[in-house]
Formats: sequence, C-alpha cells, structure tokens
Amino acid sequence: MKKSQKGFLQMFGGKGRFRHGIHPEEHKELTEHKAIRRIPFYKEMVLPLSQHRGAPAKPIVVKGQDVVRGEPIAEAGGFVSAPLHAPVTGTVVAVDRLVPMPDGKKGPAIIIRTWPSSTQEILYSKTVDTDAMSDDELVQAVQNAGVVGLGGAAFPTHVKMKAPKGKNITTLIGNGCECEPFLTCDHRIMLEYAENMIKGIRLVMQTSGATKAIIGVEDNKMDAVHRIREAIATASGDNSDITCEAVATCYPQGAEKMLIKSLLDLEVPSGGIPADIGCAVFNVGTLAQIGELVPEGRGLVERIVTVSGPGVSNPGNYLVPVGTPLPYLLKHAGAIEDPGMVILGGPMMGAAVATTDIACTKGITGVLVFGQEELPSPEEQEEMPCINCRACVEACPMFLNPSMLGRLSQNDRYEEMASRFNLWDCFECGCCANVCPSNIPLTQLIRVAKGGHMQRNKD
Ligand code: SF4
Ligand code: SF4
Repeated sequence: MKKSQKGFLQMFGGKGRFRHGIHPEEHKELTEHKAIRRIPFYKEMVLPLSQHRGAPAKPIVVKGQDVVRGEPIAEAGGFVSAPLHAPVTGTVVAVDRLVPMPDGKKGPAIIIRTWPSSTQEILYSKTVDTDAMSDDELVQAVQNAGVVGLGGAAFPTHVKMKAPKGKNITTLIGNGCECEPFLTCDHRIMLEYAENMIKGIRLVMQTSGATKAIIGVEDNKMDAVHRIREAIATASGDNSDITCEAVATCYPQGAEKMLIKSLLDLEVPSGGIPADIGCAVFNVGTLAQIGELVPEGRGLVERIVTVSGPGVSNPGNYLVPVGTPLPYLLKHAGAIEDPGMVILGGPMMGAAVATTDIACTKGITGVLVFGQEELPSPEEQEEMPCINCRACVEACPMFLNPSMLGRLSQNDRYEEMASRFNLWDCFECGCCANVCPSNIPLTQLIRVAKGGHMQRNKD
C-alpha cells in the first residue's frame, strides 16, 4: 500500500481502524517475549477494602483468625462491589488498618501475616457444573469470585454480564488491544491462557445473550491472533461463533468506542454506552479469569502485572498475589532505589504515584519505573502559547476540539465546555496533550473542568 493511501485510511477510518489517534513509541520489546512468572509471597499482605469501583468490601474475618489461600475474607458491600479472598495462608493481624492508596488518600485494609509454609496451592474452592447453572447463578458466581475489570477499570465484572434493562446484547467483544506503550500483560495472557479466555467468553455469551463474540487484537501481536484462532478451532471447530480479528495498531485502539468502530464500523452515540448498539466489551484478562475461576469455584487472589521501564533491570510479566506491597514487587524486578517517577498503568492513561508505599490491587495492569535522567527537563516541559496548529484536533479520536476545551477550562467556562463542546465525550486518552508542541496540559485541563462542572452541578 502506498504511504499516501495509508494516511488516508488513518484519517478516514476503514476496516480494522478508527479515525485519528496517535502512534507513540511502543517499548513493548522489553517484556513481550517474557513468559508470565510467579513472585514469592511477602511476609505481610495488605488488602484494601476499596480496590474496585463501587461500595467497599466488608470484612468477614476477625483479628487473630487463621485463613487459607483462596478463602473469602471480605464480602461484597452491595451489588456494585466485589468480595476479597486471602492471597496467602496466614493469620489476620488487622481488619481495618488505614493504609495509603494509589490516589494519595488512605483507606482501610485487611492485613494478613503469611505463614512460612504457605504455598501457591489454592486451599479453598468448590468445583461447579457451569452447564447446570442459570444465568443469575453464573452472574452471582462471578461476583463471588471477586472478578473486576482487569484492564485497569476495576469495575465489578458481574454487573456487565447481563444486558441493561431495555437493551439487547448481540455481540460480545474481547478487548485484546493493549494499546498502552510498555504494557504486555494482556499479550502474555492471550498467548498463555487462551483456552481460559474462550471458556470465559462462553459463560459471558450465555448470560448476556450475545450470539457472537469477536476478540480484537492489535496487529503488533499477530502471535496472539494465531494462538487464539487455534484455541477457538480446538474448542469449537472452524465455524465458530467466536472469532479473532486483527485491528490496526494505533493508540487508543483499546478504548471501547474505538474498538467497536474498528471491528464493526458502528459508533456508540454521544453520551451512550456500548449496549446502546448491542455490544458488551470485556478485557481479555478478565475473560480468562472468569474462565479459570468460575468452574473451579475459586476467588481472584492474583493477577498479571507488567513491570517495565528504563528503571528496572529485570522487566517482566509477573503473577502477583493481590495485596503484595509494591516495594517488594519493585525489588523483585530490580527497580532502581530512587526513581524519578513510578507510573501505575501505562504512560498514556496511568497515574504517577507520589509514594510507592502502597499495595498491588486488582486494577493494577503495570508498574513503570523511570530514572531522574529520563524525565524531561523543566525547559522541555515549559508551557507555551497555543499556535493553532490543530495537531490536537487531528489526534482526538472523539473528534473534539481539545485546544478550545483547554482554553475554556483555563477561563473556568465549564458549562460552555459541556453544552457546546461535548466535554463529557472526552475519555482522557491523552492523545491531544501528547502531540501538542506547546506542551499545553490539555488532558489535565479537561479533567479539572469535569471536576469543576460536576461540583457546580451539585451546588
Ligand atoms: S484526552 Fe479527550 S480531548 Fe484529548 S484527545 Fe483524548 S478524548 Fe480527545
Ligand atoms: S496542539 Fe497545542 S498548539 Fe496545536 S492547536 Fe492544539 S493546543 Fe494549540
């Protein structure tokens, strides 16, 4: 294909593509070929009660109680909530200790002292026959397993397993794009746990009513596409209602709306959700956990985390017990002692943490470590006036005007941003700020405006 044709397709979409977006350096070579490796247990595990969206979990253990690996230790605090399970065999030493959270606040946590004899064996499980379960029983089983969105959202998964009232789900989409630079945990899951993923898809198809499923994978991971196609053929033959499609490698391909556009050429209406056009989107890691945990009646006690960046000597995809202190994981991966920056998640949508004194929770996809010398200098970061180059407009996958939104935010004109410039369609992908030659922190300005707009509407 000629370069000019490629540019045309990028601008106007086409099969396997959405319009606009950017191509940041990938840096995936650091970990994409590294098989998932378990890390040992730390001597004391820290389990915040609020490590998912929705109501915090409620402890069902008391101080001094012995627990086995896999045993429930906190129940869901409501329908939009998830329970917690012991990641180790040990003794509960606190049920409400205030611990630092990734957002800088403090929250209550259950603390378990690990017995030296604790092994990776799950000692609390109950095999079930999923074929004999009703849809409601399956949804309940997923909540009981404590499964939340493992792509970073940490939204309790069972809530999405049935079509919202008045809507029909026809297509289940498995999101295997993993478009954030550095991150490779989903890539490894697709290579190493493809069968579990297919099992999870079958269960979600049953409860949601979807008649077909498509797994979308960026075309920089063709080994995963081939591996998944093999697993589909083994599980259900050549004419399966589950397919795997390669989509263009372009950030933010992994955003729900972009992936739906690329796979089905359908658009979620402004302010709408995927179910409005018959779709439900699940991260591939989440699907693999459903497929693994539900048939065995087990709870989620660990997840895969990519630890990478120039500040680690042993980058990899680690199987990390939930509740592992982050400093222990960083030490295991050979992180430098005094990093300039540590980011949870990817560099585009992740957040730099003020302290690493936090625990690894269910929503952490990656930990990126940078030395002082890798950070841009104050001169390189200096904010300059907008030069109306339109680079931000051409990058925005939601066809917003980030330059205008930024200007209005600086002048506190939040209502106008919402009513005239679709403020709430912005999902903070960071493309606009990334391409701005004047270093205007557009995404941050939009985030501030959303907070301000919400606050004013409350007052
Ligand atoms: S952060 Fe918002 S405004 Fe900026 S490119 Fe992404 S969706 Fe568009
Ligand atoms: S990219 Fe930056 S300089 Fe260019 S139009 Fe947008 S805000 Fe202005």
